[in-house]
Amino acid sequence: MEKKPVAAEAFAHGRVNLIGEHTDYNGGWVLPTAIPQKTTVHVTPREDGQVTIDAGADPKSGEHRHTAYRLGEEKATGQWWDYVQGVTSVLAKSGFSLKGFDLSIRSNVPEGSGLSSSAALEVSVLKAIRGSQNLDIPDMQIAQFGQRVENEFVGARVGIMDQMACSFAKSGEALFLDTRDLVYRNVRIPRESVELVIVNSGVTHALSSANGYNQRRAECEKACEALGVESLRELSLKDLPRVATLAEPMNRRAKHVITENERVKNAVTALESNDFSELGRLFFESHASMRDDYEVSVPEIDALVEAARFDSNVFGARLTGGGFGGSIVALVKAGTGASVGKKILEIYHRDPKRHGVLLVPEV
Ligand code: ADP
Ligand code: MG
Repeated sequence: MEKKPVAAEAFAHGRVNLIGEHTDYNGGWVLPTAIPQKTTVHVTPREDGQVTIDAGADPKSGEHRHTAYRLGEEKATGQWWDYVQGVTSVLAKSGFSLKGFDLSIRSNVPEGSGLSSSAALEVSVLKAIRGSQNLDIPDMQIAQFGQRVENEFVGARVGIMDQMACSFAKSGEALFLDTRDLVYRNVRIPRESVELVIVNSGVTHALSSANGYNQRRAECEKACEALGVESLRELSLKDLPRVATLAEPMNRRAKHVITENERVKNAVTALESNDFSELGRLFFESHASMRDDYEVSVPEIDALVEAARFDSNVFGARLTGGGFGGSIVALVKAGTGASVGKKILEIYHRDPKRHGVLLVPEV
């Protein structure tokens, strides 16, 4: 007999990607870890086919966010509730017959800052509905459904990294994920030696940045076509001379992906052998590649990375997340995170138009 829906709660942490940017939709490797900030959602069953959503205060306007829709009548609006409508739409398309519910969302994951507030929302909502309506969905499929919400409903052609990280990543461990085979292992971050600093530039990318993102993705597909491969993951450093003969900007886009995949694997080796100078060097190199070859950085992000470079407690720093704004992640000596973060912001705020925020460590 079908079980009656019950009230349920679920949460998902945001994530920071240590290295491996724009590699996931190219079948490559990534290395995210969980951040302390998380999204918690609560589902209360309803008797009718309505979904109501209370998302708390809008981080920009401070206005209370709430809306409602009817199951089966999901329609993309370009607004925040598309991420919830997308969940019920994808579940229905996958054969689950859903009941209505009231959804309450509370989160301290900054939105549009490259720390995956969208995936944290999708994954927590999917898990809460699973719990409430007793659906048989393994965690791996939760991540895949979350990706489909973005691809099929929101219109962002994202890879699987964010949803895998929000479903599986633990703090203090990096998730070394092969995005083609969805095989992963955890790599310990030795917190007795190093810690992470995450600074938000205050430049947010919204749904609109999906354009730049989707454009990069199309350029990678074009590069694959010209090179006669299924995905850029199949290529390695020895293919770079051939890649250099591609037309602009495909040559540089493919070069970034190939060298970034190499850097992820080298970063795991460095992390496992406590070689933090090498790991830091890879962070800086990754940043330069995203800035010059992939062209997804912005001046504010470059300024944060340069500010970090002056501090002798910093091993390395880079833009984290898809880019076009967002945050930087720096690898620093254990115990120095708060002071490094403060110093980076002091330099950054010499330009009064900038509004950066230290997100990690939480002080
Ligand atoms: P990121 O995932 O890097 O934070 P995205 O642009 O992918 O950036 O997703 C951010 C968008 O997700 C927000 O603009 C908003 O529409 C939606 N979103 C994320 N978290 C919440 C939340 N707690 N409540 C309502 N909408 C949210
Ligand atoms: Mg997102």
